[in-house]
Amino acid sequence: MTVSPGAGRPERVVLAGADIGGTTTQVVLCTDGLTVLDRVELPTPAAAGGQAMIGTVLGGLRTLLDRVPSRLAGVGVGAAGVVDAGTGRVLVASDSFSGWAGFAVTATIEEALGVPAFLDNDVNAFLRGEVSKGAVEGERHALGMTLGTGVGGALWMDGALLDGPHGAAGEIGHIPGFGDILCTCGGRGHLETLASGRSIAARYAERTGRHTSARGVAAAAEGGDPDAVAVFGAAGAAIARAILITAGMVDVTTVVIGGGVSRAWSLLRPPILGALAAEPPVSGHPIRLLRARLGGDAVAVGAASRARTELRAGCRA
Ligand SMILES: [Zn+2]
Repeated sequence: MTVSPGAGRPERVVLAGADIGGTTTQVVLCTDGLTVLDRVELPTPAAAGGQAMIGTVLGGLRTLLDRVPSRLAGVGVGAAGVVDAGTGRVLVASDSFSGWAGFAVTATIEEALGVPAFLDNDVNAFLRGEVSKGAVEGERHALGMTLGTGVGGALWMDGALLDGPHGAAGEIGHIPGFGDILCTCGGRGHLETLASGRSIAARYAERTGRHTSARGVAAAAEGGDPDAVAVFGAAGAAIARAILITAGMVDVTTVVIGGGVSRAWSLLRPPILGALAAEPPVSGHPIRLLRARLGGDAVAVGAASRARTELRAGCRA
């Protein structure tokens, strides 16, 4: 279906956000107030190269624009890996993506659609989403953590994402001091070795010889399995320590946690709060711990929020 503009009713102006994950790509259309109007979820052709992955985003967007007649103002993309948010290129991608490192994401989208596009790391986009429209809406300072296959982190300081001189600020999953277990990155004792979904499954298998997913460990813990409870307890204590290190270093005391593992909130929250209570931040200011609210939309909504911020800044310039 094609919609001709100017057919009598005023056009609705919308923003788009895309979350390009290793398995699925989520595309949303939202209002200027970041209310999601519609969404599609498509398989990511991660082995087929950057052009194919952006082709999936564009295909999803066309579907949405057919369903929600409107005028697109801009597109934000959140993608895993190290990205250059300034040039809109992917710098470093994991092995599961082919032809993605070096790919000019925003230029390809702008050429196809004729609207401005912006690129962010997915964890940064997650936190921007939760600050813009989620659990920590309106906060000036927040730490964001995603507990998924790995552990991601991002810092929101003074109302903006903190990138750091090498783009790695907030990378909390790979700070050391959490034991001696080998990490996926080749280091040892990183937070990720205790708190990621993959690690929760591995630590449980070490204790019991039983191989299951993090979700399986959570189900066992809910059933009273002491090994499963202990694995979640160790994850929660490690997360609390990472929160306290952050609070001690940069005085950020509001924390939002998302990602698949955070679905086991009733198992994670008590050990995190217990460890936080035992060692309160030196500022004396209590930690505010929140579970992410946007669920699977967080990265895409955060990416759309980046586009909104940039477009508004462009209008003022
Ligand atoms: Zn690591």
